[in-house]
Amino acid sequence: MVTTRVGGCLCGAVRYSVVSDEARPMRGIFACHCVECRRQSGHYVAATAASDDALTVTGGDNLTWFAASPEAKRGFCRICGSLLFWKADARSSTSIMAGSLDGATGLMIDRHIFAAEKGDYYTIDDNRPVYEDAGPS
Ligand SMILES: [Zn+2]
Ligand SMILES: [Zn+2]
Repeated sequence: MVTTRVGGCLCGAVRYSVVSDEARPMRGIFACHCVECRRQSGHYVAATAASDDALTVTGGDNLTWFAASPEAKRGFCRICGSLLFWKADARSSTSIMAGSLDGATGLMIDRHIFAAEKGDYYTIDDNRPVYEDAGPS
């Protein structure tokens, strides 16, 4: 069965749809506590992921990509600043910020990654696996 999820930024200028099925499931949500995610979001990020060919973006003219490292870039709305995507150049998938999805996602936090870089002002206590680094792929 094909499921289509939609989402977008706060101002609505960038919208997307993502399809999933048995062959192309949406990834469980990774909570990333790395310094780059913390600085860009103001806290930490929570992202699912989908294969690039499952993702369709509209209003992409308003999507700005920022490369925080040589390997990956971060997509956000240039008008309202909403974080939407994270993309490793070498991978054929795109991470999608879970909070940008409309309505119920049907997804759950799968794991916490880069916990070694987490802030000191919160605890990770939802009983999901915690990895100090990127964790297993
Ligand atoms: Zn926007
Ligand atoms: Zn991160």
